[in-house]
Amino acid sequence: MENKITIIGAGLAGSLLSVYFAQKGFEVNVYERRPDMRKSNISGGKSINLALSNRGIHALKEVGLYDEIKKISIPMYGRMIHSLKGKTMFQRYGKDDTEYINAVSRAELNKKLMDLAEQNDKVKIHFDNRCLGMDFNNGTSLFHNENDGSGFTVKSDVTIATDGATSPVRMEMLKMPRFNFSQDYENYGYKELTIPAGADGSYQMEKNALHIWPRGSFMLIALPNLDGSYTCTLFLAYDISLGGENSLEYLDTPYKVKTFFNKNFGDATALMPDAVEQFFSNPTGSLITIKCFPWCVGGKAALLGDSAHAIVPFFGQGMNAAFEDCIFLSGLVDKYKTDWKRIFDEYQMLRKPNADAIADLAKENFIEMRDLVAHPRFQLKKKIEAELYKLYPHKFVPKYTMVTFMRIPYSVALYRGKLQDKILDELTEHVTDFENVDWKKASDLINNTHTELKV
Ligand SMILES: Cc1cc2nc3c(=O)[nH]c(=O)nc-3n(C[C@H](O)[C@H](O)[C@H](O)COP(=O)(O)OP(=O)(O)OC[C@H]3O[C@@H](n4cnc5c(N)ncnc54)[C@H](O)[C@@H]3O)c2cc1C
Repeated sequence: MENKITIIGAGLAGSLLSVYFAQKGFEVNVYERRPDMRKSNISGGKSINLALSNRGIHALKEVGLYDEIKKISIPMYGRMIHSLKGKTMFQRYGKDDTEYINAVSRAELNKKLMDLAEQNDKVKIHFDNRCLGMDFNNGTSLFHNENDGSGFTVKSDVTIATDGATSPVRMEMLKMPRFNFSQDYENYGYKELTIPAGADGSYQMEKNALHIWPRGSFMLIALPNLDGSYTCTLFLAYDISLGGENSLEYLDTPYKVKTFFNKNFGDATALMPDAVEQFFSNPTGSLITIKCFPWCVGGKAALLGDSAHAIVPFFGQGMNAAFEDCIFLSGLVDKYKTDWKRIFDEYQMLRKPNADAIADLAKENFIEMRDLVAHPRFQLKKKIEAELYKLYPHKFVPKYTMVTFMRIPYSVALYRGKLQDKILDELTEHVTDFENVDWKKASDLINNTHTELKV
């Protein structure tokens, strides 16, 4: 392959994409604004660990990295719900222990992807080089060297921007006629906190679960790390007008924060004696959904991953969706070789509806996680859903399963999920226990609205 490819951003998507291209024989130069995280101790910037699921795993298998990542992943078989009184209840994610999501360190995953990329001498990662913009007419990108302050340009046949939610390449596209763009900030921010390992390095809560403290308008979650600790994320409204005493604006003194933690997360606070210090010393992250179109300019440039479709993290799919972009793009290169115009046209037409769908699903899931999971009607619906999945395994597949354990288009999961939600609403309208569910009605509703799911 003679084309020279430039990738902007050596984050999760950019590093993976460079591997895909190098394995096809392309020469790839990756420009990353940060220093090499394998040499300097920098944090990944956001979310210390991530949930990796089937879509992402498929990509890692394609490039031959999954076996290694599996070794540093912790299976999470379901949600562990923590009540106000500290009681726990486990809600399984899949049908059995074969279906689970995986907690994995963002930094370790990124480092392993970079290592794999550089094992191929066709890939060169240039660290400390910040992209400032791009000229789409001649395929030239402009960079700033963060160490010596110099500027330089790079001309290439194809440029792919995997430079995340604040993508400067996308900023450049904003200047083009008929470029659609929207950004939507949640009224919620997040803080990461750590529950340390026990004295002997042991896990102080169930290891193989994603822990949730759902509190209606706010929540705390925790994912396990390999060293016995948990990374917690506290999602809270920014403003008093929305969250009252449970808002970042209100929680401005150690006393208020201590009271807030003791009142709402007693069991977690007992394991995190420095919760107040962490709350004040750790930065607050914001949550954004970005939608735009087109993603590509002719056969010259394309957006991929968060640069094209940043989403809120409540379905644990942002990285998985970015990895799935890579799978599709790679498949199209196999099909059309170096006909980049055709490749990019088809890539964006295939991926855009699915990126929009997972953006909507992720927003919906915030309400489910922070509030609904604690309600008896929701728990009944989950039980009925599991039963219907057993009875109609090809027709009634839980939304979570379609998104997380399958690789069907996200848009199909969104569409079928909505139909199924309606069925579950109808079945639980006047019913409060599983024994009284009208299974004949369930069968009619399913057979009337549902076709077989083609996988
Ligand atoms: C709190 C939180 C939790 C999350 N949890 C999950 C989860 O459980 N599962 C999941 O699948 N997803 C999750 N996500 C989403 C996931 O983090 C993103 O979707 C994923 O990181 C996207 O990868 P990316 O490579 O497109 O962008 P990024 O990971 O943001 O990488 C972009 C890269 O580009 C570099 N860069 C930026 N600007 C420039 C520039 N001007 N020049 C050169 N380089 C540049 C950056 O330094 C970075 O290395 C979460 C996100 C958040 C915020």
